[in-house]
Amino acid sequence: MNKKLQRVWIAFGSNMNNPLEQLKTARDNLRACGLIEEKASNIYQTAAWGYTEQPDFFNAVVRYKTDWGVEKILEICQLLEAKQGRERPFKNAPRTLDLDILLFGNNAEISINSADLIIPHKYIKERNFVIVPLMEIDPKISINGEEISIIAKRLEMTGIMQIKTDNNWKKILTE
Ligand code: ADP
Ligand code: MG
Repeated sequence: MNKKLQRVWIAFGSNMNNPLEQLKTARDNLRACGLIEEKASNIYQTAAWGYTEQPDFFNAVVRYKTDWGVEKILEICQLLEAKQGRERPFKNAPRTLDLDILLFGNNAEISINSADLIIPHKYIKERNFVIVPLMEIDPKISINGEEISIIAKRLEMTGIMQIKTDNNWKKILTE
């Protein structure tokens, strides 16, 4: 019998070595690993957070279906980060690729609190570069019982800019 399919939302981030290409490669790799893509947000460019003396970030969120457990999804995400040269010299350092699991379960209802995995992601409600792309693909979603539009209202929305790409995140050149 087939295992039950669940939804998982993954946040993509990069600010090193051609971030747009990094995000595209990661998206291709996750699909190649077997995650079934349902919907992808646009890519957004934002100023760095935490450690601010570094290049802007490119961020996006993709929603998938999968019969994998979250631990396996985390393992694959970390493997793909490593494959794209992710290093961790210090907290909030520039990165070629960051893949974070935002939400899990068909209605994003599953909570996990283990040593290596917290779902919903710990900082999900505080980061405009996560909330904006997530709201773009799921405008009615709730996180811990709170609707995303309410969460978005609390956040500072300056300095976040949508990059013009096609559905495959290929840049659309204007002029
Ligand atoms: P950050 O994403 O905060 O910049 P890292 O990518 O280095 O930092 O992740 C640090 C640790 O966060 C990982 O080793 C992982 O075990 C843990 N972690 C906890 N919850 C999650 C989650 N929902 N998604 C991804 N990693 C998580
Ligand atoms: Mg991470």
